[in-house]
Amino acid sequence: MDVIVLGGGLMGTASAYFLARRGARVTLIERNRIGAGATVASFGNIRRTGRHLSQLPLAHRSLKLWGEVEKMLGRDVEFRATGHIRLIFDEGSLADMRAYAQAARPWGLELEELGPREIRSRFPGLGPEAIAASFSPHDGSGNPRLIAPAFAEAARKLGVEIVEDVDVETIKHAGSGFIVTTSKGSFAAECLLNTAGAWGARVAAQFGETVPLDARGPQMGVTEPVPHRILPVVGIWTRDKDYGAYLRQVERGNIVFGGAAERVSVDLDPGHAAADPARLPLQLRAVARLLPAIAKVAVIRTWSGCEGYVRDMLPVMGRSATTPGLFHAFGFCGHGFQLGPGVGDTMAELIMTDRCETPLDDFRVDRFSRTA
Ligand SMILES: Cc1cc2nc3c(=O)[nH]c(=O)nc-3n(C[C@H](O)[C@H](O)[C@H](O)COP(=O)(O)OP(=O)(O)OC[C@H]3O[C@@H](n4cnc5c(N)ncnc54)[C@H](O)[C@@H]3O)c2cc1C
Repeated sequence: MDVIVLGGGLMGTASAYFLARRGARVTLIERNRIGAGATVASFGNIRRTGRHLSQLPLAHRSLKLWGEVEKMLGRDVEFRATGHIRLIFDEGSLADMRAYAQAARPWGLELEELGPREIRSRFPGLGPEAIAASFSPHDGSGNPRLIAPAFAEAARKLGVEIVEDVDVETIKHAGSGFIVTTSKGSFAAECLLNTAGAWGARVAAQFGETVPLDARGPQMGVTEPVPHRILPVVGIWTRDKDYGAYLRQVERGNIVFGGAAERVSVDLDPGHAAADPARLPLQLRAVARLLPAIAKVAVIRTWSGCEGYVRDMLPVMGRSATTPGLFHAFGFCGHGFQLGPGVGDTMAELIMTDRCETPLDDFRVDRFSRTA
């Protein structure tokens, strides 16, 4: 089977790797550089807590693969299962957490509930005013700069042809396959996998499939390095989006943070998501509630990235509803980093076997036209 994978972010590189492992002949076409889209901008959270329940089977599949990634790819991509704590500051959020934990249990996600004393003793310095927290011990983080190049390199070793830095001129369905014409030549294959991220809805539209997707840029920041003390990824349960922040400390000592600030609209041409320094004070106020010591540390960089948010906040994954041989995996709504290895493995299974052990029905491309 020949497959063209269009888009070389985490989804495209992981798919190319797993497709090649199953024996496909793969060409991966990326118009910029591998991993330089939303993937490199990610906060790096490998979190299952709070996910839409129907996404949990895919998230579990992905977490298992994150645990194997170093051995599989022959490279440390800084996956660390340090745990994920979400602090709680009010009774309403505690009720929300408990309801979610109960609903998620049958889906295989076990959350521990921590009281204030346990938070202080196990995680000193975090949320001094927190009344409770959820803790997911097997989640953690990874390095967003390393993962897509690592998948691409491993895919290349399995024979995947990687074409970077090209203008993609036309994408056509012809006879029993697809022809993608680029500034570096034309490529043909029986199957086409659309992993074009925030641009994925444009590719789908060329095949008559309409997906309500907005391109938006969440804002991140990072501090100077300070002694390494915070082990887990830290988030919050809150209904107040002005306080919906999160942070983690990398082993080199820098504290990476995000959330709280509005995600601004991004123009897909050229697709550059700019961070806005004016949003930083609001963000830091929210982060300081989780970690008051951040007030004494200098922020050295802010950034953003162009991510596709689908109207119902679920990705598009699976077969095209209009075109045989076309598959989609795009629009990961700000939470695709955790899912990446699982998405690659799942799409490879679907394309190569025409079946899939992970339920994808909620992510169908035609769900909006079906309910219209
Ligand atoms: C700032 C930020 C923080 C985030 N933090 C987290 C987090 O902590 N945890 C989490 O789980 N998720 C997080 N996410 C979301 C996660 O990073 C994304 O969901 C994931 O990386 C999407 O991967 P992708 O491969 O679909 O998209 P991308 O990485 O954007 O890759 C798509 C690629 O397709 C290419 N492309 C587009 N059109 C074409 C075309 N016509 N031909 C060829 N190539 C094309 C683009 O150049 C791009 O490289 C975050 C996202 C952002 C922006």
